[in-house]
Amino acid sequence: MTDDLHSEVEDRLRRVDQRYTGGRRAIVGVLESAGHPVSIDEISAHLPDLPRSSAYRHLLDLQTAGVVRRVAANDEFSRFELAEDLTEHHHHFLCTNCGQVSDIMPSPALERTITEQLDRLAEAQGFEPHSHRVDVLGICASCQ
Ligand SMILES: [Zn+2]
Ligand SMILES: [Zn+2]
Repeated sequence: MTDDLHSEVEDRLRRVDQRYTGGRRAIVGVLESAGHPVSIDEISAHLPDLPRSSAYRHLLDLQTAGVVRRVAANDEFSRFELAEDLTEHHHHFLCTNCGQVSDIMPSPALERTITEQLDRLAEAQGFEPHSHRVDVLGICASCQ
């Protein structure tokens, strides 16, 4: 899976005329092994030799290439994860107090309900839905 992931990331970067440099590779490695959306602080903790400004720039380039997606309760708390088409469809709980983000795996029943309801609304507007994102804002257990 890892080799597939890295070659797919390389392809996507090439499409936007970017190279898969060591720094970018290291960041993708952190996102892959973390298994949850990570902040710049967490990335820096894993990659102490990579300046934060470079890490941030790499993340923006990876976003442009469609490799990384930003997840955030608000502008103050950015987290980053691999794009869903490289991982698996899921939803998020986001704490508006501390910024913590957790992945939640929706049950097939929930997915079915969401899809059916949204398809009906979309059809009424002649809109063609491809996917959805559900970010639930609230207060995490440790902040309560
Ligand atoms: Zn919290
Ligand atoms: Zn869903």
